[in-house]
Amino acid sequence: MASNRTFTMIKPDAVANGHIGAILDKITKSGFKIVALKLTALTKEKAGEFYAVHKERGFYNDLVAFMSSGPIVAAILEKDNAVEDFRKLIGATDPTKAEVGTIRNLFAKSIEANAVHGSDSDENAEIEGNFYFSAFERV
Ligand code: GDP
Ligand code: MG
Repeated sequence: MASNRTFTMIKPDAVANGHIGAILDKITKSGFKIVALKLTALTKEKAGEFYAVHKERGFYNDLVAFMSSGPIVAAILEKDNAVEDFRKLIGATDPTKAEVGTIRNLFAKSIEANAVHGSDSDENAEIEGNFYFSAFERV
């Protein structure tokens, strides 16, 4: 059975460009409930740990540098079918391929600086939520 929670980050590009409010508004208007939320920043070490699955990819070092370049917003979101529905809401990794009206279509700058992260499975949603939030920090 699909879990009802997913994990997201608003990435440094979208935070720097002043899109926190607009993105959270779009997320909540799309039926997701925020159950944990924080503004924070990743060190290079923490960004490398978060994206360890991509270690062998050519873009890994750039991605780690980008993700540790400024503040991010981390959140856990709740909705039926959360993981799949949120991936639909954010659109394709490459914003030039993201459907019109998706968060990446509206706010992303490039395939790397693509505004938001969304977990790709229930298992990763759980791992990624635990990476940022203790039990005390979620409702
Ligand atoms: P996602 O699940 O849609 O976020 O995409 P992936 O898991 O495949 O990649 C993780 C993140 O790495 C993406 O969200 C981008 O920020 C970045 N990324 C993915 N592909 C590329 C690429 O080809 N070049 C660069 N520079 N960054 C990439
Ligand atoms: Mg991914």
